Amino acid sequence: EETVSKNFIEQIIEKDLAEGHCTEVCTRFPPEPNGYLHIGHAKSILLNYGLAQEYHGKFNMRFDDTNPTKEKEEFVESIKEDIKWLGADWEDRLYFASDYFQKMYEAAVTLIKKGKAFVCDLSAEQIREYRGTLTEPGKDSPYRNRSVEENLDLFEKMKNGEFADGEKVLRAKIDMASPNINMRDPVIYRVAHISHHRTGDQWCIYPMYDFAHPLEDAFEGVTHSVCTLEFEDHRPLYDWVVKEVGFACPPKQIEFAKLYLTNVVTGKRYIKKLVEEGIVDGWDDPRLVSIAALRRRGFTPESIKLFVDLCGVSKSNSSVDYAMLEYCIREDLKLRKPRMMAVLDPVKLIIDNYPEGQVEYFDVPNNLENEELGSRKVPFSRELYIEREDFMEEPPKKYFRLFPGNEVRLMNAYFVTCVDYKKDADGRITEIHCTYDPETRSGSGFTGRKVKGTIHWVSAAQSIPAQVRLYENIIDEEKGVYNEDGSLNLNPNSLTILENCRLEPAFAGVKAYDSFQFVRQGYFCVDAKDSRPDALVFNRIVSLKSSFKL
Ligand code: ATP
Ligand code: MG
Ligand code: MG
Repeated sequence: EETVSKNFIEQIIEKDLAEGHCTEVCTRFPPEPNGYLHIGHAKSILLNYGLAQEYHGKFNMRFDDTNPTKEKEEFVESIKEDIKWLGADWEDRLYFASDYFQKMYEAAVTLIKKGKAFVCDLSAEQIREYRGTLTEPGKDSPYRNRSVEENLDLFEKMKNGEFADGEKVLRAKIDMASPNINMRDPVIYRVAHISHHRTGDQWCIYPMYDFAHPLEDAFEGVTHSVCTLEFEDHRPLYDWVVKEVGFACPPKQIEFAKLYLTNVVTGKRYIKKLVEEGIVDGWDDPRLVSIAALRRRGFTPESIKLFVDLCGVSKSNSSVDYAMLEYCIREDLKLRKPRMMAVLDPVKLIIDNYPEGQVEYFDVPNNLENEELGSRKVPFSRELYIEREDFMEEPPKKYFRLFPGNEVRLMNAYFVTCVDYKKDADGRITEIHCTYDPETRSGSGFTGRKVKGTIHWVSAAQSIPAQVRLYENIIDEEKGVYNEDGSLNLNPNSLTILENCRLEPAFAGVKAYDSFQFVRQGYFCVDAKDSRPDALVFNRIVSLKSSFKL
């Protein structure tokens, strides 16, 4: 019944299952705990987790913590929180590569004993010189032919802390003439006298990524090790390691293209700079696309899943428009969230013929497309707030909202006609006066005449204040991501703070991450960091208009 065609990874897995290369699929997500996860990682998480689900297999959560220089416990916690939030459940399958340091050491000893690894005294710079280029083969290290005994002795001394950082390395003995530079006797262990966030000072040698990663996969019984395209050239080394160390069921590396978004910064280096320079408010600033930022902005796990599914899995790099992510959150929220009235830039509207002190309540459906969301009571009175942009003294053609002499519908309430307005010394409108027609009451079935404009409002006395934050992309891509001096070309309008918004009283009691449609304005979410019960703060997730069409 599945009509959608399978992606290339599914095809590989199905072939492996059919041919008996494996009986149960096992995938993993292997982040290095050196930063926060971003939307690109979400793709990898949901892809790996989704494959395990689809084939009734296992999904491992593994911290690839073999490089202590940049790793921190803080990142371990944030990564776990983000993955849980996305819904990828690793159950009891949480692993740390650092737990394998002893087994990795033993694997290296196995290679030495087979004559497949040697201790090398060349400096990092010399190793680079000896490595050759794409067009020129490399040269053998003068230490390449050390005896097995000497290598075992030196490697043990490396482990015992008898050498300084950089003095010696362990290298795989493969082929200095290989057309693939990764196969030219790559370094697999280095000396580094650094404390590790989990193993402390127990080790002063650490395995290199290209050696550690295939071992981690093999130790855990991972069958399909999905990674990004830049590791394609490393696959022969991956295969070499699992073969030479001798695993009966070696894992298979499969590469797919990274997810790139236009108009958005994902590089850790740049985000770090934005945070340090105070341009953004931390790693979870709602303009960023870290998972934490997307969550704070008001994106949902469902919207991210839809986005990742729409992007698909491919072998060629391309970049996806941010508008597609916006499409996905609108799709997710449109039927699930109430549509309520909020005035972002308020101006007073006074209904001269409405009795002073009177309050009436309208029963308003929460979502016209989804009855299940029920209805709420919205107060109406003589003094309201409307959007400043919904009134003009001298309207252009086709402006159907309020202007002197014009009649509009107050959404869910009455028709009103503008009879007067007041301005302050600077020419700013301070009050708009109207009269209302009681016969036009919403729900009364009035059909006597029609109006072209409908505007939203809140009752002044019952309304509650809020701060609302509007966002644009942090990079103005039309002018280029970078300036000539290499700095980021920042959009000066990426954040607009509206301090004096007025919301209908039904908003009282909202909690962090609650989201709503503000009619005519978009979808908004209660900011989890700054909102207080007596000082609400909302983030605009996305406007209602879309430039993206599926
Ligand atoms: P970054 O430098 O952007 O944080 P990374 O590759 O250093 O990325 P890791 O922690 O090593 O991050 O990544 C964990 C997993 O996420 C890897 O399997 C990696 O291939 C995958 N990944 C990272 N970035 C993307 C991306 N943009 N699209 C898809 N997968 C990604
Ligand atoms: Mg990373
Ligand atoms: Mg990495």
